[in-house]
Amino acid sequence: MPEKVVIIGSGPAAWTAAIYAARAALEPLVYEGAATEENRLRGTLPLGQLALTTEVENYPGFPAGDLSAYLLDSLADDKSYLADMHQKEGVSGPELMELMRQQAINFGTRVMTDDIADVDFDARPFHLRALGGDEVEARTVIVATGARANYLGIESEERFKNKGVSACAVCDGALPRFRNKPLVVVGGGDSAVEESDYLSKFASIVYMVHRRDALRASKIMAQRAMENKKIDIVWNSVVDEVLGNDTDGVTGVRLKSTIDDNSRELEISGFFLAIGHTPNTGFLAGKLEMTEKKYLKWTVPFRTNTSVEGVFAAGDVADDYYRQAVTAAGSGCMAALDAERYLAAKGL
Ligand SMILES: Cc1cc2nc3c(=O)[nH]c(=O)nc-3n(C[C@H](O)[C@H](O)[C@H](O)COP(=O)(O)OP(=O)(O)OC[C@H]3O[C@@H](n4cnc5c(N)ncnc54)[C@H](O)[C@@H]3O)c2cc1C
Repeated sequence: MPEKVVIIGSGPAAWTAAIYAARAALEPLVYEGAATEENRLRGTLPLGQLALTTEVENYPGFPAGDLSAYLLDSLADDKSYLADMHQKEGVSGPELMELMRQQAINFGTRVMTDDIADVDFDARPFHLRALGGDEVEARTVIVATGARANYLGIESEERFKNKGVSACAVCDGALPRFRNKPLVVVGGGDSAVEESDYLSKFASIVYMVHRRDALRASKIMAQRAMENKKIDIVWNSVVDEVLGNDTDGVTGVRLKSTIDDNSRELEISGFFLAIGHTPNTGFLAGKLEMTEKKYLKWTVPFRTNTSVEGVFAAGDVADDYYRQAVTAAGSGCMAALDAERYLAAKGL
């Protein structure tokens, strides 16, 4: 028998879709991604982007507090180590994701720890093939494979991830370690300006490091950066190394000029990347309509429909604008309701 709903992904969008689909008796099957070295290096291990961060201070329902007992009570025994690691500061990214996953399982969701590597959306039911070789048929599919933040790929940046290096200003900017401190934002497009502008509310100064002598950002955004007295644009420069130590995390950055041999160091406490995201849609090339930047297209306003009837998309894989856990969860709920209504309308 084909599955009623297969959900691909394992971030807030996928688990929320699974909770709703399971409660609607659709017996969802989730492919949560494979635990491979390749996925580790790309930042796409199971549990999604939030599993890569520490504190999550903006997901509703988790004010500061000691969740240890709650975690012990709520999660399966093999996840009890999370309660030991809990830092008494509300919820962490990995805790939040394990709680969502567990909630989906509690309602009967089945989980496969593998990537979906290929899909046939011309066939009905749809045909999916997993990396490990499993084949599965599905009447509806919810794609919630998210996106991954682009990093420069230098070793020092990797070393200080969560210790002052971040790819999400809206998520991390308000954390105490960045308040009234000098920060760097790398990038020169609209999102770099947006992130710099946002961070300037908390930082003592934001150095926007850009490799060229003019911003790529739209005129109005570039003007916003120029007029903000707390943004100092460092032109014609690239990052050579993020500086710091194990106790303090990031303490500085060394920049190289792109026009001569000069280099300089800046004292900073935070290093933010704003050089774009890559949606996890490679395996869907030619199968679903995408935007220029390879995000999936929602084809009906305020619905999660894609270009193929019966295939829905939720979360960052179709959203390059909001990119937050709560918006991903919201669209995961929408996708499950859309799939449920589609199945009912087709009598499937
Ligand atoms: C460092 C960092 C900190 C952040 N902090 C916050 C924060 O504090 N608050 C907030 O609201 N947001 C935060 N965000 C943003 C937030 O994490 C994302 O908006 C959210 O996770 C998007 O959820 P998603 O469900 O769309 O998918 P994702 O979280 O992107 O997860 C998708 C996952 O699906 C799996 N997958 C991918 N391809 C396949 C495949 N072919 N088969 C099977 N599985 C696959 C992978 O495991 C992938 O990681 C942060 C992001 C980053 C990078």
